[in-house]
Amino acid sequence: MEYYGSQINKLIEELSRLPGIGAKSAQRLAFHIIGMPREQVESLSSAIISAKTNVRYCSCCYTLTDEELCPICSNPSRNHKVIMVVENTRDMAAYEKTQKYDGVYHVLHGAISPMLGIGPNDIKLKELMKRLEGDVEEVIIATNSSLEGETTAMYISKLVKPTGIKVSRIASGVPVGGDLENIDEITLLRALEGRTLL
Ligand code: ZN
Repeated sequence: MEYYGSQINKLIEELSRLPGIGAKSAQRLAFHIIGMPREQVESLSSAIISAKTNVRYCSCCYTLTDEELCPICSNPSRNHKVIMVVENTRDMAAYEKTQKYDGVYHVLHGAISPMLGIGPNDIKLKELMKRLEGDVEEVIIATNSSLEGETTAMYISKLVKPTGIKVSRIASGVPVGGDLENIDEITLLRALEGRTLL
């Protein structure tokens, strides 16, 4: 791609590092950006920088947010006694889209995977157990139905059961190996409503 000149090449190179962006898409995006009005480009680049600077973990549920407490944790009309445990912020967003769940969340930021060397201490599990010292009635485990997700679910249920807090697992209407975020809202709702006690 020498014929593009180094500035364009640099932009294409940076864009192609993003997930799901191949060489062709990176080129298309790069030329699109160059063709955009200057203000729009500035607004895009400052949105990226300011998100990176200001986004952090919610001090309660560990989702990504730009406040000390995320909008869900700070909402008094949510049921703070029911905690749904998800693997990442995108899974949480998928459940929020159903608009039918009024509890709160706990975001693990990963799943236990002995194969990848990810153990219980590498995800936000200690933080979950700490929250359970408060007034909690139910923990709904909504990790993915992948091997890692199931391993994590089993591990959590073993930790939670001795506390006497109700622990449930979403129904397996979710296809095996399926990422929660790719599953439609009706399937998610069915999985939630059909959850079983562990
Ligand atoms: Zn939160």
